Amino acid sequence: MTTDPKLVHQLDGRIAEVRERIASAAVAVGRDPESVTLIAVSKTHPWATIAAAAKVGQRDFGENRLEEALAKRREPGAADLRWHMIGHVQSRKAAAVVEAGFDLIHSVDTLRLAERLSRAAQPTGRTQPVLLECNVSGEDSKSGFVAANHADWSALIDTWSTLGRLPGLSVVGLMTMAPWGTDDETARPIFARLRELSALAQARLGLVWPVLSMGMTDDYAGAVREGATHVRVGRAIFGDRG
Ligand SMILES: *Cc1c(COP(=O)(O)O)cnc(C)c1O
Repeated sequence: MTTDPKLVHQLDGRIAEVRERIASAAVAVGRDPESVTLIAVSKTHPWATIAAAAKVGQRDFGENRLEEALAKRREPGAADLRWHMIGHVQSRKAAAVVEAGFDLIHSVDTLRLAERLSRAAQPTGRTQPVLLECNVSGEDSKSGFVAANHADWSALIDTWSTLGRLPGLSVVGLMTMAPWGTDDETARPIFARLRELSALAQARLGLVWPVLSMGMTDDYAGAVREGATHVRVGRAIFGDRG
């Protein structure tokens, strides 16, 4: 497909800027910049925009609505990219989400949803990689496993022990969103809490969870400083959404 050279040029600059900020945040805390995956959150943006970003080497894309993601993934060239489901998954759409074959589902937020995904994954013969979304800030409007207080963590890890044995699913880490309006500095304690929760869960369950998905446009540098392996950045790359 032909891509608008002006758009390609603009995205090239913005992606390079985001990658530089990721790299300097990583280096500041002694991390390898290569250990951070930049997911370009392309929700609401048309395929032409994704194609332009792909042209300058962007490989990972995040979508939050199943129908929109499926339409984009039918485009020629989409199969060469990596697709992340970052939005809330309704239980009744669990089978369709598994069928869509996302490289990673970031938003498993209940045992019930995990059970549905597991049931759908088994006949496919594929193992679906997933992250467990956690609400570590205590903000009411956020979905995710409730993990704001240390007092909740033991029971939560018991639930995850059950969840981790579901066939057809592979839990590879945790995901969170900081409250609206936070910035690099104010979001850092939230991200640190997710990292601590992940460390405790891995120790208790005897598992290795390599992924910490945290950080968006306003706070991704802070997230990298706190150990994010995947940042989900939309506006800083594609501009404001409609
Ligand atoms: C939209 C969205 C993002 C990207 O947000 P920006 O502020 O545009 O960077 C990241 N994560 C999730 C879960 C989202 O829904």
